[in-house]
Amino acid sequence: VAYNKHYYAGSRQELVAKIAAELSDFRFRHVLGVEKAALELAQNNGVDLELASVAALVHDYAKEKSDQEFLAMIDACQLDPDLKNWSNFIWHGVVGAEIIRQELGIEDEAILNAVRRHTVGAVNMTRLDQIVYVADYIEENRDFPGVKTARAIAKNDLKEAVAFETSHTLAHLIANEKTIYPAAISTYNAWVCGR
Ligand code: GDP
Ligand code: FE
Ligand code: FE
Ligand code: FE
Repeated sequence: VAYNKHYYAGSRQELVAKIAAELSDFRFRHVLGVEKAALELAQNNGVDLELASVAALVHDYAKEKSDQEFLAMIDACQLDPDLKNWSNFIWHGVVGAEIIRQELGIEDEAILNAVRRHTVGAVNMTRLDQIVYVADYIEENRDFPGVKTARAIAKNDLKEAVAFETSHTLAHLIANEKTIYPAAISTYNAWVCGR
């Protein structure tokens, strides 16, 4: 995808270099896989390719920041103080969006919302939100039971893929006795039960 600088002030190559500098090789590969999957989904679902590329490339930009950096950002941006009771899994999206705004100069709210919603989803998700959420789950480097089914569903029906991912992620978290972030339950009720 060639960038027309609608969302990021530089070229795709410049954005990729900034992201590579922030992430381990393993996570950087994941991010490129998410971009590839997101572009396919964008093509199939009538979403702007530059928008999908930028959102996918930045979605885990903050994932390797320290807890202290997230906690400081929650204060600096006056985000909901309840966020402090959680951890990296929720911070890297919700607080990460503010870090992306500050460090990459990306101000587009559609992109920042897709980052905020990429881990636990939301009751209302735009097509871009759905694309980043699903691409994160099905990208080519992912390997877990059910990923092939998820990929097949995503080829045909983006909303159905959101439902499949939401249902299976929640089941996996419960099977492992993980704390469920409340918004993840709202996503489940809306996307899995609300059909
Ligand atoms: P990644 O950043 O590409 O690894 O993927 P995600 O941002 O989608 O998820 C990050 C981590 O958060 C994964 O290990 C998920 O299993 C985990 N996660 C997602 N939702 C919840 C939740 O409600 N509770 C807990 N404890 N973990 C969650
Ligand atoms: Fe993530
Ligand atoms: Fe995910
Ligand atoms: Fe990811």
